Amino acid sequence: MPGRILIVEDETDLARTLVYALNREGFQAAHSVTGRGGLDLAQGDPAFDLVLLDLMLPDMPGTEVCRQLRADPRTRDILVLMLTARGEEIDRVVGFEVGTDDYLVKPFSVRELILRIRALLRRVQAATPTEGKLAWGPLRLDLDGHRCWLDGEVVPLTAVEFKLLGRLMARRGRVQTRAMLVDTVWGSESDIGERTVDATVKRLREKLGHAGAFVETLRGVGYRFVDQAEGAPS
Ligand code: CA
Repeated sequence: MPGRILIVEDETDLARTLVYALNREGFQAAHSVTGRGGLDLAQGDPAFDLVLLDLMLPDMPGTEVCRQLRADPRTRDILVLMLTARGEEIDRVVGFEVGTDDYLVKPFSVRELILRIRALLRRVQAATPTEGKLAWGPLRLDLDGHRCWLDGEVVPLTAVEFKLLGRLMARRGRVQTRAMLVDTVWGSESDIGERTVDATVKRLREKLGHAGAFVETLRGVGYRFVDQAEGAPS
C-alpha cells in the first residue's frame, strides 16, 4: 500500500530520520521545514496521500497549515497526522475542528508511526468506491445511479441527503466539520447555514433507521461516519 508522504517538520534531524525510514518502507517521502513550504508542496503536483504535520513550526502553527489544507479542494482529502511535543498536546476538539485525522506525541518510535500511517491509509483505501459502488455493513450506495439500499431495501433519499451520506461514508472514521460538509455537499458558493447541515443529518438518520446511528455527532465540531460497528466489516 505504499503512498506519498509529506513531512512538515522543522527539526531537521527528526525529519531526516523519518524520510529515511519511510522510504525504506516503500513510501515516497518529501520534506519541508516550514508550514508555507509544506502547503506549496501539498498544493503542487503530484498529490500526497498523507501529511505528517508538526504542531510547532517556525512560520505558522500546524493547526493553521491543516486548516488551509482542508480549505483547498486540491488538498482537502489528504490525511493529516499531527506531531506534537510532550506538553503541547493538541486539544482533541481543536484537532477535529481543523480536520486532523490522528496525532502522535513525541518522542514516538518509527515503528509506531508507520503502524499509524498504514492504519490511516488502509481506512481510506477501504472506503474508496469501486466501480461507483460504496458499501459498508448493511448499507450500499450506487454513486452513479444515486441510489441507496439498507438491508437490500431501497432508501428514498433526496439528492442532498444522498450526497451527504456518500461523503460521510467515503470518509468514514474521519471527522467532517459542518463547514467542510457545506463545502463538499452544497458547494462553497452556497450560502446555507450550519443549521441546515444539522437538519439534513437529522432527516438522513431518520431515513436510515437502525443504520442512522452510524452517523455520529461530535459535539461542537461536526459529524463522523463510524469506522467500525457490530455486524459491519472492519
Ligand atoms: Ca517544531
